[in-house]
Amino acid sequence: MEVSEKVKVLQDLIKIHSVNGNEVEVARYLQKLLANHGIDSKVDEFGDRRANLIAEIGTGESKKILGLTGHQDTVAVPNPDRWQHDPFGGEISGDYIFGRGAADMKSGLAAQAIVLIELKEAGQLPSGTVRFIATAGEELGTPGAYRLQKQGVADDLDALVVGEPTGGNVIFAHSGSMNYRVTSYGKSCHSSHPQNGINAIEGLLKFIEEEKHLFDNTKDDQYLGKVQHSITVIDGGSQVNTIPDSASLQGNIRPTASFNNVKVADRLNDALEYINHTTPFQLELVDYRMKLATQLVVNKKRHSA
Ligand SMILES: [Zn+2]
Repeated sequence: MEVSEKVKVLQDLIKIHSVNGNEVEVARYLQKLLANHGIDSKVDEFGDRRANLIAEIGTGESKKILGLTGHQDTVAVPNPDRWQHDPFGGEISGDYIFGRGAADMKSGLAAQAIVLIELKEAGQLPSGTVRFIATAGEELGTPGAYRLQKQGVADDLDALVVGEPTGGNVIFAHSGSMNYRVTSYGKSCHSSHPQNGINAIEGLLKFIEEEKHLFDNTKDDQYLGKVQHSITVIDGGSQVNTIPDSASLQGNIRPTASFNNVKVADRLNDALEYINHTTPFQLELVDYRMKLATQLVVNKKRHSA
């Protein structure tokens, strides 16, 4: 494939809107691209415009199977006006290509599809199988990967290369990802007499202060380094002249092998217990986007309004 053709593949992929969905359009594009080079693929459609794609090349002489995988969705574009380039334009400036998903990870996806095409074109089909697995919804809930897992698509893989951006380096380990939500309960009253209420937003502020240092003294993982953690969504109050009786926030934590999910969950629970026992605020951990082996211990005492 000519370099210009390869660049165009990436530009085309960036131009397809697949923000947290609409992967079917990406899958159909990839299917057509592969078909133009004599490679069959299967588009596995599900839900509302969601789809995975699976393609294989190889002679099958050996039983070895190498997987290549990437996701077809991207994260959102919250402030398109602040972009210097159209997020869905695939514009090139100097040595760079700009657009939502240029790095994460339509470039990886393009590279994997191109690998299949180039091996086929060069007549260098692997003696085993190379299986390309393009998934849906990696950025939110991973419905595509769950679906493929049920179909057993990855069960017989000997190895899997994930095309996520890693700064140009090959890496072999990745931190986990834990999403959680904390709700703070207070007591509502009119803002003219705030002393009669308990401002739930201030309860969240206590948690935000605690969270900042919650993982300071955790053991660094030899490959993954520190536990990374952030508060990313905050939501509270409904009317400007009312002290809010509830407010919530969401955060994301990246557990490592050295400081795993259970230890992370224990820390979160400890922080909430500390706040609930030392302040008038009552905080509750209400949602984990992960399966935990431990039971959550939370203080559910609430103030009545
Ligand atoms: Zn990604």
